Amino acid sequence: MSNNKSKENKIDLSIVIPIYNEKQSIDSLYKDLKSVLPKLGKSYEVILIDDGSMDGTYDELLKAHQKNKAYKIIKFRRNFGQTAAMKAGFDYSKGEVVITLDADLQNDPADIPEMLDKLNDGYDIVSGWRKHRKDNTLIRNFPSAVANRIISTLTGVYLHDYGCTLKAYRKEVIKNLELYGEMHRYIPALASWMGVKIAEIPVRHHSRKFGKAKYGISKTIRVILDIMVVKFLLSYSQKPIQVFGLIGLIAGAIGFIVTAYLTIMRIFFNQGLASRPLFTLSIFMILIGIQLITMGLLAELIMRTYHESQNKSIYVVKEIIE
Ligand code: UDP
Ligand code: MG
Repeated sequence: MSNNKSKENKIDLSIVIPIYNEKQSIDSLYKDLKSVLPKLGKSYEVILIDDGSMDGTYDELLKAHQKNKAYKIIKFRRNFGQTAAMKAGFDYSKGEVVITLDADLQNDPADIPEMLDKLNDGYDIVSGWRKHRKDNTLIRNFPSAVANRIISTLTGVYLHDYGCTLKAYRKEVIKNLELYGEMHRYIPALASWMGVKIAEIPVRHHSRKFGKAKYGISKTIRVILDIMVVKFLLSYSQKPIQVFGLIGLIAGAIGFIVTAYLTIMRIFFNQGLASRPLFTLSIFMILIGIQLITMGLLAELIMRTYHESQNKSIYVVKEIIE
């Protein structure tokens, strides 16, 4: 595609909606969007991603598309997950601003104008905060409150509600973002690497009327593992030896000192080593130390391959004045 053509195709606003088995919600979703989007006075598209639904969601999406061609459909071959669905929407989107939204009517399109206003105040990301969240407190709200605190502290990007899908992004933010696993929740933290300005505003939240929630309590553990990935990517992905090497050095040093002590005891004080657990421990520490340092060196190689094979820069420029 020539540069010119892609410019002609530019539109103001892309709404990206991941959808998995939400047949009964689509009609209301369409109506809710219809009562908001045309009034904004902006050109828009709505990208509906059918993430392998098996309940007839696709037919409902087709109806929306027939009513209004600004509603586009991306149909996955199977269920790839919410992150993949959102990434497909991001890749396809042409809007200067991209807004993500759940299909289950828990988010409310009525919040969109306020999010756009906030974005216009000079922010790159405006994140929704489900201040009065209508989900199960014990298995959803409480674990997510804890997770939000941890991720905020670790990344320095303080948000009350990482998990809210209703978020608005400037195009530059999401076009340069690779997403894997379930990383859609951490986009603000991941994007903080680029030096983005992030705002959070309270948004409406409704309880689920139709269909089933796709996540349960098991999500908590997966979220904790993902937090480790995000922290590592943000702080050390360009200097992995600093993490692995440091721990390796400490373990190796402890092992070395203990072994030296045991050797002295053996040679000069004639103490046996076979019955001493400390001996086994010190050998382990030395081995762990060597392994961690080697792993750190390998990670350094991998990191270089990652950047150089894809021409990925280690910085992001906002503008250059010559
Ligand atoms: N979703 C999806 N693929 C999946 C799981 C969920 O596209 O594999 C969509 C789902 O249809 C909904 C949104 O992601 O529009 C959020 O899912 P859900 O409402 O179950 O999450 P919750 O609001 O309970 O966090
Ligand atoms: Mg929901």
